[in-house]
Amino acid sequence: MNIVLFGPPGSGKGTQATYIVNSKKLTHISTGDIFRKNISQNTKLGQLASDFMNKGQLVPDQLTIDLLETEIDTYKNSNGFIFDGFPRTLPQAEAFDKFLDTKNMSLDKIISLEVSEDELVARLLKRGLDSGRKDDQNSDIIRNRIKVYESQTSILKTYYVENLKDKFFTINGERTIDVITKDILDILLKD
Ligand code: ADP
Repeated sequence: MNIVLFGPPGSGKGTQATYIVNSKKLTHISTGDIFRKNISQNTKLGQLASDFMNKGQLVPDQLTIDLLETEIDTYKNSNGFIFDGFPRTLPQAEAFDKFLDTKNMSLDKIISLEVSEDELVARLLKRGLDSGRKDDQNSDIIRNRIKVYESQTSILKTYYVENLKDKFFTINGERTIDVITKDILDILLKD
């Protein structure tokens, strides 16, 4: 089973992915986490990515696509994946489809978490205090990330509705974590 968790920054993708991964024994792939790991290890990729991330911009597509493909290839015996934070642009989604095809893989569910902008900003500022993540500490950078989501990522809803209509689900992300997890698990049980 391969799932894409989709939604703006702060919508709870990472939180939900952690719960679902545990109950479904899937592999969690978060492009943001991979970039942050590279930054903390001071790799070349980390150095390239950090300038974009710190400004609240997207890391360039080709870099992100290559990273994702390499990451998938490291899990030869996976039961399936939860993709969190990927794809975020149309070129990423198109490259992803092609790549999945070559691996005889496909997406089973795309789940979109919906949260209002004011709530997103409040959550991210709080996360900035708790986690120390630089891109969560400044409301201008946060607003920029939300703008980038609206201009580059949210169009993927149309893309997936057109391409994988019966597999696209929208969830209200402004409820308690456990209620949302239950909704997602129910969706995963549907054919
Ligand atoms: P959030 O969803 O809260 O923005 P992430 O950890 O998913 O947090 O992403 C943090 C940052 O990493 C993004 O703002 C962006 O700079 C970079 N990033 C993550 N995933 C991608 C992606 N698929 N394409 C380009 N940049 C990405």
